[in-house]
Amino acid sequence: MKCSQLFLPTLKNIPSEAEIASHRLMLRAGMIRRLASGLYTYLPLGLRALRKVEAIVREEMVNAGAQEIMMPIVQPAELWQESGRWDRYGRELLRIKDRHDRAFCLGPTHEEVITDLVRREVRSYRDMPLNLFQIHTKFRDEIRPRFGLMRAREFVMKDAYSFDVDEEALDRQYWNMYNAYMRIFERCGLEFKAVKADTGAIGGDVSHEFMVIADTGEDTVCSCLSCSWAANIELAEVRNSEISGQGAQDNSQLKELKKVSTPDVKTIEDVAKFLCVDTKRLVKSILFSTSSGEHALAMVRGDHEVNEVKLKRAIGCDDIFMADENVVLSVTGADVGFAGPVGLKESVRIFADNSIRGVKDFITGANEKDAHLLNVNWQRDIDLSMVTFADIRNITDHDLCPECGGRIELKKGIEVGHVFKLGTKYSEALGAAYLDKDGKERPIIMGCYGIGVSRVVQAAIEQNNDKNGIIFPTPIAPFELIITVINTKDKVLLLAAKEIYDIAEQSNIDCLLDDRNIRAGAKFKDADLIGIPVRITVGKRLKDSGEVEVFFRRNGAVKMVSFDDIKENLLRIISFSD
Ligand code: ATP
Ligand code: MG
Repeated sequence: MKCSQLFLPTLKNIPSEAEIASHRLMLRAGMIRRLASGLYTYLPLGLRALRKVEAIVREEMVNAGAQEIMMPIVQPAELWQESGRWDRYGRELLRIKDRHDRAFCLGPTHEEVITDLVRREVRSYRDMPLNLFQIHTKFRDEIRPRFGLMRAREFVMKDAYSFDVDEEALDRQYWNMYNAYMRIFERCGLEFKAVKADTGAIGGDVSHEFMVIADTGEDTVCSCLSCSWAANIELAEVRNSEISGQGAQDNSQLKELKKVSTPDVKTIEDVAKFLCVDTKRLVKSILFSTSSGEHALAMVRGDHEVNEVKLKRAIGCDDIFMADENVVLSVTGADVGFAGPVGLKESVRIFADNSIRGVKDFITGANEKDAHLLNVNWQRDIDLSMVTFADIRNITDHDLCPECGGRIELKKGIEVGHVFKLGTKYSEALGAAYLDKDGKERPIIMGCYGIGVSRVVQAAIEQNNDKNGIIFPTPIAPFELIITVINTKDKVLLLAAKEIYDIAEQSNIDCLLDDRNIRAGAKFKDADLIGIPVRITVGKRLKDSGEVEVFFRRNGAVKMVSFDDIKENLLRIISFSD
């Protein structure tokens, strides 16, 4: 492709809509343009990178035994009603009506559609194992679309679904997919980690997420520095040293319960400062409501954070949210910031984190405006029949690995893939069954496996860039090589460049020829910005010494190579680019 013909609208200025490097760079490098919130057009460069990722994903999926299909984006409401998700999925599901007033949705995921297909077509144990995948557009009406392709509303996903006769066969499919994912993300040149993940409403105990490590990630990845344990913070289990000795308090030594005035002192930090104590002495009480109108008070140490995923599990309800001001006032009798466990209505269940089980003389809100209680103690002051102790907080880097007791580290991550054992959730809801060897009907055992293909492109850029622009990993670069002609009016240089270009084409190297009649400096800037791994510059040196300059974008290395060598060893040179 010639640059003079390429639709490459690069930007000099930093686009104000973009908050993170990869988003800014994709806009500046003319890869994407925003149509509306969470909706993007892929320009030639962006689409080429997307296609490269797609090709790697497709190849590895096919090698792993999966077969490609393509399902409709528009899905009938009835299927979602059958699975029970029409009501439960919430507002991320974009619902539409056709001209006959029939309800449909835009597919955010395809479990219903694929299960419908399989319940019609798969009859016998002989039809399995089966693994079907597609690479296609999804729509999720995200509450806060942001960061460009990272959290878009319309995006490209690879979703695969497996169908098996029993758990053992599912287990084989699951690890087969897991290994395919390892290869895919390695080939895409990503620094990533596979971590244990929450199984949410679906239950089951096995799920892994594939996280690209990046400071701008929305997830937190915890991993052990000594063993192979790694988990999403959502489910990273806290192994509590303080559990022992709980409840066995010596009541005679307890200090007297005291109410103190704390006017307008609401946050934990402010209360700690106001009372001149460490935040560890405080116990945070946060009121949650469930979708069925119940209330739960979550209690964690002042310096800890409530983990909503763990709290959901402890409560046994998948739909919980922080209570709003009015609810807090009506349930606790006080404004937000002054809730506590003492004297709370009996209808409220209290969930207290394991790490505050053994604490004495702690500080909480007094359920009264502008007041806190000092020297609160479990047995003396709180109705213990209302209290459940559980692991409901986020692990911190002061905690130890739940597997081996080693030190752990916390890093930010971008979720690019997810593998999940579904079991019989959808096959039972939709009646997808098969006949086993004895002619007995059994539900099909399913797994699902997603990759955010468009998110991978941007995640790779988030991980690979510098002040000059993108540094594409070669396997997903829109072009692997750019040949820059210093002076396009010079026929000799242009011809030589064309010669290298033709060899590149013949060798199946994706190559750009920068034949634009602009300053050489501007060409170099563009090549750096769009992140092409190798640049060959054809300039005056060709005439002086028969050499061209080879520049490697990743490490900035420059080499002079003779024109003949270039022609002979082009493929080898490209292979050095990563
Ligand atoms: P997230 O927690 O980021 O919302 P998810 O758990 O909802 O992700 P899945 O339902 O597992 O995601 O979807 C599979 C993959 O699709 C994810 O691993 C992610 O890479 C990608 N993905 C999900 N939502 C989006 C989005 N809004 N924009 C781009 N990619 C997305
Ligand atoms: Mg999501």
